[in-house]
Amino acid sequence: MNDLTKLAPAKVFSFFRQIAAIPHGSGNTAQIAQFCLDFAAERGLKAVKDAGDNVIIYADGTPGYENSEPIIIQGHMDMVCEKTADCQKNMETDGLDLLTDGEWLWADGTTLGGDDGIALAYMFALLDSDDIPHPPLECVITRDEETGMFGAELFEAENVRGKKILNIDSEEEGILTVSCAGGITAHCEFEFSRHRYDSCYEYEISVSGLRGGHSGVDIGKGRLNAFEMLAKPLERLSDFYFGTISGGGKMNVIPQNASIIIGSDADKLEALEKIIQKCNDMHYGGDAEPDLLFSVKEINTNHQVKYFENKCYFYYMEDFLKFFPTGVQSMSESIEGMVETSLNMGVLEMNDIFMSCDFLIRSNTDSGKDAVVETVRSFCESIGDEIDFDGMTLSAEYPAWEYRKDSPLRDLMVEVFRDQYGREPVVAGIHAGLECGIFSKKIKDADAVSFGPDIENIHTPKERLNIASVQRTWEFLKEILRRSK
Ligand SMILES: [Zn+2]
Repeated sequence: MNDLTKLAPAKVFSFFRQIAAIPHGSGNTAQIAQFCLDFAAERGLKAVKDAGDNVIIYADGTPGYENSEPIIIQGHMDMVCEKTADCQKNMETDGLDLLTDGEWLWADGTTLGGDDGIALAYMFALLDSDDIPHPPLECVITRDEETGMFGAELFEAENVRGKKILNIDSEEEGILTVSCAGGITAHCEFEFSRHRYDSCYEYEISVSGLRGGHSGVDIGKGRLNAFEMLAKPLERLSDFYFGTISGGGKMNVIPQNASIIIGSDADKLEALEKIIQKCNDMHYGGDAEPDLLFSVKEINTNHQVKYFENKCYFYYMEDFLKFFPTGVQSMSESIEGMVETSLNMGVLEMNDIFMSCDFLIRSNTDSGKDAVVETVRSFCESIGDEIDFDGMTLSAEYPAWEYRKDSPLRDLMVEVFRDQYGREPVVAGIHAGLECGIFSKKIKDADAVSFGPDIENIHTPKERLNIASVQRTWEFLKEILRRSK
C-alpha cells in the first residue's frame, strides 16, 4: 500500500484526509460544518452559516482580480454512509480508513465520500494558497444534499454576489453538466363502489425479469414498466373477475415485477397457460428487456382477496394498465440524446375499496413538468365511470436547471478544457436532480456548470477516486479561475 501523504496535488489530498477523519454522513454534519468555520477563522477569512446550516466562505480576489466578478464554488458537506457487511466501523462516530495504491484512493470497508469531499478539498486548497490567481470567491458548502438537498433548499441567496457557479459534484472527468431535471410527485387516489364476490378458482398472473433502474437516469434506456406489461395478458382475457394488483414499490425505481390476481367460475388454468405462452412468444421486451417473463399459477387465497362482481371492472383495469402515461415523454432539442421529460409510475396499491398510484414526474424544463402533471390528471379523470377519481396530491417538488443558450461560463470552461486536454469536453444534461436546480432558481441569472474528477461506484463501499484525474481537474479549476479576470 502506498503512502497517502505522497499523493499529489499535496494540498488537495491533505485536506481530503482531514475531511475523511471527521464523520460526516447526511444528518451528522455539525462537526464538519464547524471544521469549515474554523478553517476560515484560522485564516482570517469571512464565513457565515446560513439558515440552512450551509457554510459560505469568502475570499477576496488576488492582486489584479480585486474587481473581477465573484465566482461561486459549490459542493456538499455530507456523504452517503455505506459499508460492507463485515465492516465494524461506526460511521456516526469514526473517521474513514483511507487506502491508496497510487492510482486510486478508497476507504477500507466503507464509502469514501469522494462525493463530495473532493469539492471541499479543492476549495480549502484554493483558500489556503496565496499563489493561485483568482477572482473573489464565494465557497458555498451545503448540508444534506444526499437525502433531499435540504441545505440548498434553505440557502439564502442574499449571502452571495456571484452569478457564475462552479458546482463540483459530478463524477466523470470530461463531462460538463449544464442542465438537470426538476421533479414532482403525484399521488392519485381512486375509490370503487364494488360488490364482493368470493371466487372459486383463483389465478395469479405475474410479470418478472425486468431490469428496473433509476427512474431518471435509466428511463431513456428502453426499460419497461412491469405494470404496463401486465396489460399484455389482460387484453387476451375475458370472463374473469378482477381481484387485486401489486408490484413495484419505490417511486424513483422503474418497477421490475408486478402481478394481478383474477378469479373465475370454472377451471381455466389450461387456457391461461396458453395465453401466457403467447405473451412470452411475442418477446415484448426486445433487446432492451430480454429476460421479461410472464407466468401464471393457480392460487388459493382463502377468500383474502375480494373480487369485482361486475366484469366491467376487468376492462377498466385493463385500460388503466394499457394506457397510463409512463416513461419518456419528450427528448431535449438542446442537448443531444438527453431525455427532457418523463414520468414513472413506481407504486400502485389496492385494497378492497381503494386504489392509489404514485407517479414521479421529471423534466429538465419547468413547463414540461407542469404539462405532465396535467396529462396525469386528465388520464385519471378519464378512467371508467364506476371508478371514482378522488383527486391528486402533488408534493416533493424541486425545480429544473434549464439549459442556458447563452452561458459565458460554459464557453470559458469548454475553451480551457480544449487547451488543457486537446479535445472537446462533452456538454451534457442529466435527467435527475442536482443542487444547481435550486441555485439556478434562487440566484437570478445564475450561470452554472457542474464538473468533477472521476469517482467510481459512488454511494457504495466500492467508491474510489482517481488520483491522476484529481490532479488534472485541479489544473482545470485553477485555469478557469485564472481566466476569470
Ligand atoms: Zn454528490
